Amino acid sequence: MDSRSSLSTTDSPSCLFVTLGCAKNEVDTDRMRALLLDEGFAETDEVDAADVIIINTCSFLASATSESIECTLELADQVASGVRSKPIVMCGCVPSRYGNELASELPEVTAFVRADEEDGIVAVVRGVLGMEGEQVSLGDGRVLRTIEGTSAYVKISDGCDRFCTFCAIPYIRGRYFSRPTSDILAEVRGLMEGGVREIVLIGQDTGIWGCDLGPDDTLASLLRDVAAVVRPYGGWVRVLYLQPEGMTDELIATIRDVDEVLPYIDIPIQHCNERILRDMNRSGSADELRELFDRLRREIPGMVLRTTGMAGFPGETDEEADELVNFISEQEFDYTSVFAYSPEEGTMAAEMADQVDEPTKLERTQRLIDLTEALGFAATARHVGERVKVIIDGIEEGENGLEFIGHAWFQAPDSDGAIHIAEGEAAVGDIVTCDLVDSFCYELIGVMV
Ligand code: SF4
Repeated sequence: MDSRSSLSTTDSPSCLFVTLGCAKNEVDTDRMRALLLDEGFAETDEVDAADVIIINTCSFLASATSESIECTLELADQVASGVRSKPIVMCGCVPSRYGNELASELPEVTAFVRADEEDGIVAVVRGVLGMEGEQVSLGDGRVLRTIEGTSAYVKISDGCDRFCTFCAIPYIRGRYFSRPTSDILAEVRGLMEGGVREIVLIGQDTGIWGCDLGPDDTLASLLRDVAAVVRPYGGWVRVLYLQPEGMTDELIATIRDVDEVLPYIDIPIQHCNERILRDMNRSGSADELRELFDRLRREIPGMVLRTTGMAGFPGETDEEADELVNFISEQEFDYTSVFAYSPEEGTMAAEMADQVDEPTKLERTQRLIDLTEALGFAATARHVGERVKVIIDGIEEGENGLEFIGHAWFQAPDSDGAIHIAEGEAAVGDIVTCDLVDSFCYELIGVMV
């Protein structure tokens, strides 16, 4: 497909952004969006109105890769049936993972941009649109974000050195590196000035942030610095994707003692059985995890705990599957994401001999989902009767007319449910006080006070 169009620099071409995958991809798309808008491009959410389509893909699982490719082909179909041709730029994890193979496999795509090349998106888009004029110089340390909503993810690192045997991320995103403190704080400051009230720090392995910077650069020190930036705005900060080894004394004390740092702890354990953890190239055992969670509950009373569990890792026996179910049940996690193991091309676990058959994997996954939903609904109901601060995220049509939608400290945006408030006066971005009077599933009903 020849999708080059010719535009002069006086046009204001429109970009349609499509993001697949996780919060880290949302941040990457937002950075590309901000770079393009800063250079005078416009944004649209209509294929027909777009001059260029930018798809930020996910390749964490085989199913995510397929979804990314299907989505790209669907958009290519829509473009082909439209009145004018337009280029498609595929960014992120799929080009990072499959590189040169893609050009011949996906002729519908005009340009591929690996994750580590995304800061050059303006030059790429100018190129595919055949635009003349000076190309912007990138990689100059500018931290650009667009402000959308009251919570914002901020990436503090990229890559991963852990090489869990089931995970393709280290091959896709490369070696671990920490973003410097000054870059992160500048981004947080800009977001708060733009109306954001909650910062969510993310990375593949947030607990080791700073290991490649100075000896005083730790996640705890970063959290204290971010807390100082959000404090004047009445905002707060949470951190996701900690590994058990990342829970240092300094970090626990910071989460406990610094008001703006939310006592919301997200440690994806994947499993608790020692043999499976070892085969996953992870460390620990049920006893060690138990000790860690006991200690966290003792030292940070009232904290909320989120985790991730994986069903059907190669070699998992019925007894080992039961062990995970029993461990999650015993620990009563507030929130748990559940995944069925999927063999990812190029990973060690995909080559392991004793793969669990699909029906068994699905049965174990469903058992975990049923359990974790029951635990999560009960944990949500335990907040009824509390008086909490709520960030107002929006206004939506509810069952009985318009209502405010917000979230409290124990609800991570996009994943943990919301608070519905039928009456009151507030604007999006306000932090209001609510009594929590009822719950359903992961949702809560609040009354403004
Ligand atoms: S810690 Fe393990 S699961 Fe997480 S990104 Fe790194 S390799 Fe993948």
